[in-house]
Amino acid sequence: MQLPKSRRRQKLREKKCQYPGCGKIFFGIHISKYCPEHRQDRYRIRKRTKPEDVNIKNQTFKHNYTEVITMVLNCALEGCDNQFEVKIYPRQYIYPKYCPEHRNEYKRIRHLRQIGREDLIEQMMKESEMMELDPNSGRETEAETDEVQAIDDVA
Ligand SMILES: [Zn+2]
Ligand SMILES: [Zn+2]
Repeated sequence: MQLPKSRRRQKLREKKCQYPGCGKIFFGIHISKYCPEHRQDRYRIRKRTKPEDVNIKNQTFKHNYTEVITMVLNCALEGCDNQFEVKIYPRQYIYPKYCPEHRNEYKRIRHLRQIGREDLIEQMMKESEMMELDPNSGRETEAETDEVQAIDDVA
């Protein structure tokens, strides 16, 4: 038997909120895990660290140093030959990837414009837009699960 995919109504049932320390009873569809309060975004348990910091302005540098050392790195910006010193700390792996002059987005854009790499500016803007949208991507996954479960429920 084929059911129309648009079927969206779901039976509500008594559910117990699974948020640590809550346990409140609420009515929700059978896959709901949290009471309305704990469904709010700020209670979401975030799996990822802010990707923006890691990928755009910084780089991951894996090392095994057990003491603080100073390293000289090259600026990651196209056409910039500046080198800068970074203190490497034990068990810390995120470090800046641009020279002090280019840690500011405005200055990176200005530099790229000077060397005529408008294409890289565009790419940079696209990347930072994607990073901003990323924290919400978990919501889409949840919606998909919802759809699948609704069909199972009927069978
Ligand atoms: Zn709750
Ligand atoms: Zn630079």
